[in-house]
Amino acid sequence: MPVGYSSRCRVCNSPHRVEIEQWCKEEGLSPRAAAARLLEVYGEKVSHQSVWQHMRDHFDVQAEAREQYRKSRANMEKGVGKTLSDIEMLEAIAQGSYDLNQAAAEWVKKLVKEKEKIPGTLVDLLATTAGEVRQQIRTKLELLGEDPGSKIADAMVATLEELQELYQDANSRQEGTDS
Ligand SMILES: [Zn+2]
Repeated sequence: MPVGYSSRCRVCNSPHRVEIEQWCKEEGLSPRAAAARLLEVYGEKVSHQSVWQHMRDHFDVQAEAREQYRKSRANMEKGVGKTLSDIEMLEAIAQGSYDLNQAAAEWVKKLVKEKEKIPGTLVDLLATTAGEVRQQIRTKLELLGEDPGSKIADAMVATLEELQELYQDANSRQEGTDS
């Protein structure tokens, strides 16, 4: 279902709405050219101001963002440029947090394997980075208008909980040997 709709908009109520939007966003037609083509092909008269206003106010930017995102990041339309650049930024941040999280996780696993003491700061780092990644994924999905209940994020939290258990086991074992 389209996000924007106005009962007074000629384009919203046109049977050729989808086509008009495609002309504008995919073929890059100006509102004037799209209105002219509509008249030429279908004999339907809509002012270019109506087309312009429709594309500005009623066009489904979220759906377009999703589509553009899947296809390619290049060649963005004006209306979705902001959403996409936010997503790209979040991805870069999430990637950084994720790399850090993975590095911390590897380190913890290594320490557990070698039965070394795990520094609390390392555990904090794991928790912080996992939380960051989860938040960034959620925000990204929200920007894309998709379900924020992310499987990746949930999987990550599960991994973190596993690691925390390992950490607690290792520490209690150490305490056991100390006393
Ligand atoms: Zn409209």
